[in-house]
Amino acid sequence: MPSSPNPCYLPQCSTCEFYTHNPHLRCTLHPLGLESEECLDFVAIFPLPEPEEQWQPEGAAYYNGELVLQPRQQALTEQLDLLDTHPLFTGRCPNCEMPIDSTHPVQVHWDCLNCGWIDDSV
Ligand SMILES: [Zn+2]
Repeated sequence: MPSSPNPCYLPQCSTCEFYTHNPHLRCTLHPLGLESEECLDFVAIFPLPEPEEQWQPEGAAYYNGELVLQPRQQALTEQLDLLDTHPLFTGRCPNCEMPIDSTHPVQVHWDCLNCGWIDDSV
């Protein structure tokens, strides 16, 4: 007698990790169907996010479910560093710490006449 063309599976099988939804191989653990009303191997599929949400471009990561591009974050950090070191904000050379006076109007380049430090942030 040939085996049943419709092997027995449970309603929950369609939400199980081992269930393939393939008509030729429904379940990788129980290819011939279940013999009882329950399956001890049942593993619920964790709801998968959409493929686009899983995709992460290089240099990016998820933080609190939001895609954050690292380069932008890095730029922000550099800007904060600038606030700490740039003579426009500190009034002195970040290299030799000689005071650099601002001109009127305020100069675009804050090159240091003492050590030769050149403001290349602009
Ligand atoms: Zn200097």
